[in-house]
Amino acid sequence: MHAGRIKALLFDLDGVLYVGDEPIPGAGEALERIAAAGLQRAFVTNTTTRPAREVWEKLQRLGFAIEAGEIFTAVSATRAYLREQGWQRVRLLVRDSILPEFEEFTITEKDPEAVVIGDIGAAWDYALLNSVFRNLMDGACFVAMHRNKYWQTEEGLRMDIGAFVAGLEFVSGVKPTIVGKPSAPFFTSVLARLGVAPEEAVMIGDDIESDIGGGNAAGVCGYLVRTGKFREDVLAASAVQPEAVGQSITDLPRWLGVDGAQGGT
Ligand SMILES: [Mg+2]
Repeated sequence: MHAGRIKALLFDLDGVLYVGDEPIPGAGEALERIAAAGLQRAFVTNTTTRPAREVWEKLQRLGFAIEAGEIFTAVSATRAYLREQGWQRVRLLVRDSILPEFEEFTITEKDPEAVVIGDIGAAWDYALLNSVFRNLMDGACFVAMHRNKYWQTEEGLRMDIGAFVAGLEFVSGVKPTIVGKPSAPFFTSVLARLGVAPEEAVMIGDDIESDIGGGNAAGVCGYLVRTGKFREDVLAASAVQPEAVGQSITDLPRWLGVDGAQGGT
């Protein structure tokens, strides 16, 4: 019954298809079933540690049959946003591997028009935060590639850049523009590229706020998976309502009615 209404699926990557370098068991087969059923797919990620090309290479290495053009990242959305705003002088807090994506801009720490926060891993320290704080106090606009709180790694949860974005907002009083998930324009631009209406799509993710809440804000219903960063108590305490919750992405084909079983569910 879902397959009739649903034309496109938007997948989060980390925690849905893999955790660290470990694929979620059965995820590849689930994706293949969905592709065989003729449903459109987009892979929508807040990963800002590597360019889209490397995200795609990792998916290939892990055995997923995904085209590079099916991947939508917060990094490319950020570049599009900076262009749209017409800014030239920007301060970028990203890893060196991301810099080539922004070569059309003048990267500067001095009087930037905008400060852009991405993932710089363990490079955060007081001096860096303080100099970004000063940029903001001097009038720079504030852009965050996303504001995720944490993600799941093979060793356990890891704090994400949301803490730094929230801290800088608190001290400077400058409100950041969030570009990636859960920002509704990010979802809307992906839907436009696929040519589907929000009610024809489902967002599949392990983050109830960023994936499911963000999708809902853009009119897209959410399918939450119990893998990656999923925690039962976080779901119970959340005001966000997923349309369905699966053990993992492997439950999705049956929910969509494309698992080949008689009648589906
Ligand atoms: Mg995730």
